[in-house]
Amino acid sequence: MENPGPAQAQAEVAELLSDLIRIDTTNTGDTATGAGERAAAEWVAGKLDEVGIGSQILESERGRASLVARIEGADRSRPPLLIHGHLDVVPADPAEWSVHPFSGEERDGYVWGRGAVDMKDMDAMVLSLVRDWARTGVQPPRDIVLAYVADEEAGGKLGARWLVDEHPDLFADCSEAISEVGGFSITVRDDLRLYLVQTAEKGLAWMRLTAGGKPGHGSFVHDDNAVTRLCQAVARLGSARLPTVLTPPMRQFLAAVEDAYGIEIDPDRPEEALARLGSISRMIGAALRNTANPTMLDAGYKTNVIPGTAGATVDGRFLHGQEEEFERQLASLIGEGIQREWIVHDQAVETTFDGPLVDSMVAALRSEDDGARPVPFTMSGGTDAKSFERLGIRCFGFSPLRLPADLDFASLFHGIDERVPVESLRFGVRVLDRFLRAA
Ligand SMILES: [Zn+2]
Repeated sequence: MENPGPAQAQAEVAELLSDLIRIDTTNTGDTATGAGERAAAEWVAGKLDEVGIGSQILESERGRASLVARIEGADRSRPPLLIHGHLDVVPADPAEWSVHPFSGEERDGYVWGRGAVDMKDMDAMVLSLVRDWARTGVQPPRDIVLAYVADEEAGGKLGARWLVDEHPDLFADCSEAISEVGGFSITVRDDLRLYLVQTAEKGLAWMRLTAGGKPGHGSFVHDDNAVTRLCQAVARLGSARLPTVLTPPMRQFLAAVEDAYGIEIDPDRPEEALARLGSISRMIGAALRNTANPTMLDAGYKTNVIPGTAGATVDGRFLHGQEEEFERQLASLIGEGIQREWIVHDQAVETTFDGPLVDSMVAALRSEDDGARPVPFTMSGGTDAKSFERLGIRCFGFSPLRLPADLDFASLFHGIDERVPVESLRFGVRVLDRFLRAA
C-alpha cells in the first residue's frame, strides 16, 4: 500500500508557513529593527509546547532571539542530528509585490510572502512534522536538535555564530546537520528530475579597497589621481574571469548533468552546458570559479577637486581549497598603490556526498518521486552552515521541494513575489518524514 505520509503535518504545513510569514522578521542588519525574531521564536515555542515539546529561547541582543529544542530519539547513544533554520528574512517593498509580502496569502496553489522559500518553508515543514510525530507518538531513531535562529541574513553574528561561540554545549555532540539551500528539483524531462543537495559553499571575502593619490585642482595636469587608480583596479576585478576550478561536488554535479541530458561538457567551458538548467545556472555557474564583484564606490566631494583617496567595496567569494590562490589572484588584479582590507572573511565549507545520512536522503527522495536523481552541488552564497561546521558538524542543504518545471526558483530567493507551491511543501513533509525516520 502506498504510504500516505504524515496526515496532520501535510494538512497544516501551508497554514503554519502563512502564520510565520505574517510575523515580520525583516533583518536590516540593525538590531533596532529586529523585534520580529523574538515574536517568531515565541510563536515556534508555542507551537512546540502545544504538543509537549519543550524549548528554550536565547537572545544575543535584545529581541535577537533563537530557539533550541531537543527531541529524544530511540537510541540516545547515537550523535544527534541538527536541523537548523533561520527565522529572519530580507526586507521587502510592498509596492513591488502582487500581494503584500507579509500577508502569507494562499493563492493559486502557492503560499506567497517574504520567506516563502528563504527559509520559512523549511521552518514550517519541520515544525509541522515534529508536531505530527509528537501527536502520533513517533520517535526518531536518534536525538534531533532543532534550532530556529536569528540573524542569518546579516551573517549570523547574532544568531548561529553567537550560539556556536557562546552555547556550543547545545550542539557539541551533533554529527550532521540539514538546512537550506538544497533538496529542490530541476526538471530534465517528465520522468527525470535532478534534486540538488548542497554539500559545499564558497567562502566569503568582502573587502574594502582604498587608493591614495596626490590631491589637487581639477584643472591642472595630474598624473597621480586616486579615483583613476581605484577605477582601473575595480574595472580589472569586475571584468576578470578567474579560471575554472572543478571542486569534487561540482565534478559530480556536472557528471550528473552530462548523464541526464546526454551531453558532453567541455571542462574548460562548463557554463555553456549549464545554460540548459535555466536561471539556476547563474547560481551554479558561480561555483565553478572564484569571483570578485565590485559593489560600492566612494570618492570625492567636488567636481573641480581631485581627492586624496578613493574607496570601493568588493564582494569576493572563493571555492573550498582556493583561499590562498584567491589572495594571489586579487593581488595581481588590484595591483600597486591600493590598500586592501577585509570587511568580512569567512571560510568555505565542503563535505562529501556519501554515508548513511546521504543514503537516507536519496532513498527518501526516490520513494516520493520515481524520477528523482539527487546530486551534490556547491552554493555560491553563504549560510549558517559556516557557523555549525566550526563544531565539526557535516552540513547539508536539504530542504526537499519538488517544484513545477516552469517555476523560476532561483529568482524567488530575496526576490519579488517570493512564493512556494503548497503541493511542494506537502512533498517536502513526506520526504522529511521518510528521511528522519531513517536518519
Ligand atoms: Zn536563507
